[in-house]
Amino acid sequence: MSAPTPLPTDRSIVVTGGASGIGLAVTTLLLSEGVPVAVLDRDASALARLRDAHPGARLLAQEVSVTDAAAVDRAVERAAKELAPLWGVVTCAGIVRDRTILKMTEEDWRAVLDVNLSGTFFALRAGALRMKELGGGRMVAIASIVGLRGGFGQANYAASKAGVVAVVETAAREFGKHGITVNAIAPGFVRTPMTAKYGETLEEACKAESPLGTVCEPEDIARSVRYLLSPEAGHITGVVLRVDGGQAIGA
Ligand code: NAP
Repeated sequence: MSAPTPLPTDRSIVVTGGASGIGLAVTTLLLSEGVPVAVLDRDASALARLRDAHPGARLLAQEVSVTDAAAVDRAVERAAKELAPLWGVVTCAGIVRDRTILKMTEEDWRAVLDVNLSGTFFALRAGALRMKELGGGRMVAIASIVGLRGGFGQANYAASKAGVVAVVETAAREFGKHGITVNAIAPGFVRTPMTAKYGETLEEACKAESPLGTVCEPEDIARSVRYLLSPEAGHITGVVLRVDGGQAIGA
């Protein structure tokens, strides 16, 4: 057995939602290893902070909504041309609009499906179009344990994440012949700007559900993403990896 192989630095990785939370942790980890990273995010000020934090890095931070298929396609094309041929796509862009089913508006339903599910589909498709001629690559989509077990007040979010798993399993079948692996990570509660709005009560409840009794940080997810992007994970595809401190099985 030898030491882990470094990630390729002559190929680029696209990270959607890469300017905040889990995506930002992924971007930061990849840049620290010299991997060229293209971030697609809709938050202009977070993108500006990211650029400022990494002067001179091989970073292309683009303001794009993942709900716009043509814009995603252009942004991925630009990454492949201006940074390096694509090695991977990591989809982290996501939103929540929690309400119980009887109170959920059509707009709440559609907005979450549009970003979380359609946005993931558009990014994976745009990546595969460029990666299929390159002899292999990696795709990692951030799902959620809520997509595996439902979530009170989260019918839209749970459906979107269950859909992400279905897209991942389908893409794994379709892209395998090109040497592209496609996997999902299903986090439980992670401390990010998205979950900050829920306050400490949810954090404590989720901690109590975890056999480890700990709270997941974005860097914990980023390290798992990095593994699935690595050459060592070349025989893993179509998997949903729960990275949740055991939250889904319960304490
Ligand atoms: P976050 O801190 O809010 O980061 C998500 C990023 O995606 C933000 O910069 C957000 O911009 C961006 N984004 C939202 N809609 C977009 C769009 N249409 N196009 C491009 N970018 C868009 O959230 P996070 O907690 O890191 O979540 C990352 C992923 O992990 C999401 O898919 C989430 O569902 C999933 N996840 C999170 C947890 C958790 O506990 N945090 C658990 C399980 C799964 P705005 O700030 O402008 O919205």
